[in-house]
Amino acid sequence: MILLVVAWILFFPVSLLNYFFLKNKKGAFRRTARRIDCFANKEFKPLWNHILIKAGGYQFGRRKETLSSVLGKNGRTNTLTIYGKRVYWILDKLERNHCESSINNNLKKKMVTGIQCLKKYGTPELEKNMTLWEVPKELEIAVVPKKIYCNKDLIPHLVVAFTNLISTGRVKELRTWDGCFAIRKVEGSENISLHSFGLAIDVNSAWNLLGQPSTLSPEFVKCFTDAGWDWGGWLRVKDCSHFQISKI
Ligand SMILES: [Zn+2]
Repeated sequence: MILLVVAWILFFPVSLLNYFFLKNKKGAFRRTARRIDCFANKEFKPLWNHILIKAGGYQFGRRKETLSSVLGKNGRTNTLTIYGKRVYWILDKLERNHCESSINNNLKKKMVTGIQCLKKYGTPELEKNMTLWEVPKELEIAVVPKKIYCNKDLIPHLVVAFTNLISTGRVKELRTWDGCFAIRKVEGSENISLHSFGLAIDVNSAWNLLGQPSTLSPEFVKCFTDAGWDWGGWLRVKDCSHFQISKI
């Protein structure tokens, strides 16, 4: 307990002193604030989860996520409690649109990597686990091929995503289907893409170029992320046309 008190008392003056020795002073306080924010998210998660969000809301406690980001996500899904809404409101007064824009600035979670897929499915050339899936009649979408060559493990996720798109009417946003299976590296990197294992798809590519902001609505994206997909719009270099399986 004493150590905790000493740590808290020293924290502020040490942060200020440290500032004088920093080489890169620009944005230093903001960086420190962000680290404290992430720390507070992890450290006090039982408290935040109890008082700021409703049952079923997106949980606090991820190590690399800020409180503002979690608040932003719960703002979108309307799962903030009255206290959560107040904190959200205060942060937005301090900086316009703070919580919402914090969502976009955050890398959300670790995505499945090509290396993990290599371990599970072997080299992509083997096309292990690949199949030609015939889209059921009730899930047919005009711009989507009637048969999709993909990984067997992707089918249940395609079914739920297509069902969500159709039932919410967001299917009208789907303008082009830009493929699933293709053996290739992630653009601008040496990492093997999940397309190589038939575990990723691209849509509306012409309107969502690499590194550019998304033209897809959050509701459209949610149809996928609710169905076990990760979105390329969460990556450091945004790839908003890209969706890939969130677990293998
Ligand atoms: Zn892709």
